Amino acid sequence: MTDMKPETLAIHAGYRSDPATNAVAVPIYQTTSYQFNSTEHACKLFALEELGNIYTRVMNPTTDVFEQRMAALEGGVAALATASGQSASAMAIQNIAQAGDNVVSSTDLYGGTWNLFANTLKTMGIEVRFVDPADPEAFRRATDDRTRAYYAETLPNPKLIAFPIREVAAIGNELGVPLIMDNTAAPVFCRPFDHGAHIVVYSTTKYIGGHGTSIGGMIIDSGRFDWEWHAERFPMLNQPDPSYHGAVWTEAVKPLGPIAYILKARVTLLRDLGAAMSPMNAFQFIQGLETLPLRMREHGRNAVEVADFLANHPAVTRVIFPGRMSGEARRRADAVFDGSYGGLVGFELAGGREAGLRFIDALKLVYHVANIGDTRTLAIHPATSTHQQLSPEEQMAAGVTPGYVRLSVGIEHIDDILADLEQALGAAASVTTRAA
Ligand SMILES: *Cc1c(COP(=O)(O)O)cnc(C)c1O
Repeated sequence: MTDMKPETLAIHAGYRSDPATNAVAVPIYQTTSYQFNSTEHACKLFALEELGNIYTRVMNPTTDVFEQRMAALEGGVAALATASGQSASAMAIQNIAQAGDNVVSSTDLYGGTWNLFANTLKTMGIEVRFVDPADPEAFRRATDDRTRAYYAETLPNPKLIAFPIREVAAIGNELGVPLIMDNTAAPVFCRPFDHGAHIVVYSTTKYIGGHGTSIGGMIIDSGRFDWEWHAERFPMLNQPDPSYHGAVWTEAVKPLGPIAYILKARVTLLRDLGAAMSPMNAFQFIQGLETLPLRMREHGRNAVEVADFLANHPAVTRVIFPGRMSGEARRRADAVFDGSYGGLVGFELAGGREAGLRFIDALKLVYHVANIGDTRTLAIHPATSTHQQLSPEEQMAAGVTPGYVRLSVGIEHIDDILADLEQALGAAASVTTRAA
């Protein structure tokens, strides 16, 4: 099945019918616990001699289908669902880094991840070294023998410059450091494992669900990083784990395949920190996932049309969209994207901050929310919302100019999207005229 295409995997991977009832739709196993067949069965499950359901904080049959489906779509060996994208990125790092260790991360990050890295991980003694992805070699220079991972987003906004996955993964392979990619903004049209990344994380809250009903996250293991080969760098996977009767994860999983990283995350971090996805949310994500490849095509098509429309509009001074970039930024996008430049489009208004606010307030169809990846078209003015706490200099460094507006282009009919943008741009342009 794993050699099937994304459209098929999104509907079929990891499940045929319910073993108890033959139900074709994945049932919602809304249960906390599972009865053991015998004392011997219980004993084997707790010893990890046999994998099976014990308690829904650690695994659940509905969530299991969602995990298998995501692993199949990404070309990974196993996956772990979490309560949110934030818990996925936190655990992806906590699984291999402890106090005294460091992580080298791209500066171009989602705000929540930035806070997690710059503040919360710091209080735990994990240092995050931020480097500019414009120079992939910066990752090498920031690496020392306590570096446990590289971290970046495939398509970070607001800059929307694709991350050089191949270049940084190659440095990681050389130095023995795994590359963790947040692929939230680029599902289906980018598979980071195909370009050498080792771990993928998602906020499934966005495109994976698409319906905007549920918060969730996912960690996916490529199974292609050799943790044993780099045993000194990864004591948490190669030395006896006191929290699991002295298990050495790389050895314990040998009969199960190359899943040391993801199994440890499940049976230690999910067990101890408890950021589990609810079965109801896993069910919601399974419904969304069925149409993900179809939706991504439509998001991508509509985004191209929106970008073209904006580029020809007199109130717009600049359009930020990978498909309209040139030079190195375009080369990077074309190196990792297949068949789409995604659904995110940024643009700058001639009228600056005032025009940005007017534009947002004039929207009728498009929603004003701090979110991306919904079926609905969404807009935000970062300078006065998501990036409001930054100084003007920090805003500029992040690519947020006063007149910058970010769109997450939805899958409504393109004519209706353009009509709403047109009328809102008219309202924004009146500011320019007045100011001039
Ligand atoms: C939304 C988002 C997150 C955080 O996900 P939540 O599900 O909201 O916790 C992480 N990374 C990116 C790129 C996001 O867009």
